[in-house]
Amino acid sequence: MAVCDLCGERAVLRDPVNKVALCGSHFSAWYEDCVADTIRRYRMIPPKARVAVGLSGGKDSTVLLSVLTKLGLDAELVAITVDEGIANYREDTIAAAVSLSQRLGIEHRIISFSDICGKPLDEILAVSSKQACSICGTLRRRALHTAAREMDATRIATGHCMDDEAQSVLMNYLRGDITRVAENYRTNAAELFIPRIKPLCRCTERATVAYGKVNRLLVPLPECPYTKYALRAKVRTELGVLEYKYPGTMYNIVTGQERLLAKLGPAIGEVVVMGVCERCSQPARNRLCAACTLLERQER
Ligand SMILES: [Zn+2]
Ligand SMILES: [Zn+2]
Repeated sequence: MAVCDLCGERAVLRDPVNKVALCGSHFSAWYEDCVADTIRRYRMIPPKARVAVGLSGGKDSTVLLSVLTKLGLDAELVAITVDEGIANYREDTIAAAVSLSQRLGIEHRIISFSDICGKPLDEILAVSSKQACSICGTLRRRALHTAAREMDATRIATGHCMDDEAQSVLMNYLRGDITRVAENYRTNAAELFIPRIKPLCRCTERATVAYGKVNRLLVPLPECPYTKYALRAKVRTELGVLEYKYPGTMYNIVTGQERLLAKLGPAIGEVVVMGVCERCSQPARNRLCAACTLLERQER
């Protein structure tokens, strides 16, 4: 039986990268410190911020909201749940999100795809499920931003953890999307969008789930029925195998990406000016924003 390095109690997690074994309470403190450090290091939350937490009701966002309430931040927290309209999946996660916000005493709002584009995801995808995750992602970002604006939020926090970050870096390479790999162009997007932060980006999914279990935050929930169509699902599986065999792989991917951007230096050249979408008046680089481009394609 593995025991805690600090107190000799039974260990709940042995971290192969940092080579520590910790009991439930020492692990929880370690995890919370990691989140607090990340927020500080990347200056994610300025004083008096109003932070809208994207609360899907799933594992990562549940842990995110719970940890943020414990850190004693000089910030106000509110929660937003996006109801994509996915039958037999969303009902339970929404119930989990509602009960968590109530328990923590946090103002909570639910916004649905029907609110922003007139129909649920199931209906949008009725023709083809192939692009499910990218369509859903684009509309979800829009919904979150719309609700955050209505709630006067100054930051949007999402539960993306290190695994998600590492997957995204690899996916940009797999798609040859060098614009995203070398994201150092200048835009005025920061003035138009509410800045997004990812306080769990230095925590692994494994540690995040362990935190949720140790602190009894998680209830068993169904998986989204559409994820199996996504490239991300394959990358996730393969990366999981690599991380198991070579602990630290994901950390190397995300910090390597950071070093690459640092080497490229600050963005130079002309500012890519964003205007306003013809259909919805949200910020857009082209005639239509990403969400409206998608919806227009669906209508054809
Ligand atoms: Zn301990
Ligand atoms: Zn638009």
